[in-house]
Amino acid sequence: MLAMMLFSGCKQSNETGAAASSSRPEYALVIHGGAGTIRREDMSPEKEAAYTAALNQALDIGEEVLRNGGSAMDAVEAVIVFLEDTPLFNAGKGAVFTNDGRNELDASFMNGATREAGAVAGVTIVKNPIRLARKVMENSVHVMMAGKGAELFAKEQGLDTVPPEYFFTQERWDGLQRAIDRENKSTGALDPAHNDSKFGTVGCVALDKSGNIAAGTSTGGMTNKRYGRVGDAPIIGAGTYADNATCGVSATGHGEFFIRYTVARDIAALMEYKGLSLNEAADMVVNKKLVEAGGEGGVIALDRNGNVAMPFNSAGMYRGYAKPGKREVGIYKE
Ligand code: ASP
Repeated sequence: MLAMMLFSGCKQSNETGAAASSSRPEYALVIHGGAGTIRREDMSPEKEAAYTAALNQALDIGEEVLRNGGSAMDAVEAVIVFLEDTPLFNAGKGAVFTNDGRNELDASFMNGATREAGAVAGVTIVKNPIRLARKVMENSVHVMMAGKGAELFAKEQGLDTVPPEYFFTQERWDGLQRAIDRENKSTGALDPAHNDSKFGTVGCVALDKSGNIAAGTSTGGMTNKRYGRVGDAPIIGAGTYADNATCGVSATGHGEFFIRYTVARDIAALMEYKGLSLNEAADMVVNKKLVEAGGEGGVIALDRNGNVAMPFNSAGMYRGYAKPGKREVGIYKE
């Protein structure tokens, strides 16, 4: 059994105590379960334990694939399917509600070995949107499919579909009612960010024994979102990116900013063009560029040498990473 540690006092959101390494571990895996106003004082011990257990279980699932020589892509898919099926997170079962009380899911997937990618937006009946994003990448000539067409493709590909009610959870429904209440009491502005202090997207980046990187992200988006709104999660280069030459990235936060600042690709570009380390690049984008712009959230990222970065500028981010003999799981900043 690997040593497990719940760290909560870590100011730096990279691997604790680790300098950038140029010797690659056999495999590496990093995950997130969303960023936002996640504070210790608002969390019950039971809830904290449930999130910690789920994050550890996700790492177990990914490590098992990678330890047995499975591909980074298989690890990313298996981990995200688990997180989508876990109602604690805002992806798959547990997705947040739109303003009109629906669940519209977005996901994307990228193979760092080939830079092939697949993405889906606004799907309502696909049990595991991450599987569909991978199918778009592998079995279509397109990169992104949305709405009804994406759902038809899911059926053609033999993926599990469910009635929309499958995605209902009382907690997310109550969250929508609170958001609508708050909105009615304030300016009435159509900004979901101000109506939901927690995000909750899930993501995973993996490096396998062959040195290949893959990344994926899946989300219900933001509580109280309007009219076909699509966030950054299914946008390649914004919410997800993977390139063996630099890094893999999965993002979580206020998607409109992550799209406008092309966050995931910007981190890879800073490494590619400016020679920054993974930590420097991720830190610059999340803690400088996004902070200056007012974009709340964070990323998980992994480079070809298995270095891990998990910066976030919000109060907390559900996160964790694992390598042979090493594991950390965290929730809060301070
Ligand atoms: N980035 C997601 C979106 O804007 C939300 C999240 O990360 O929770 O749709």
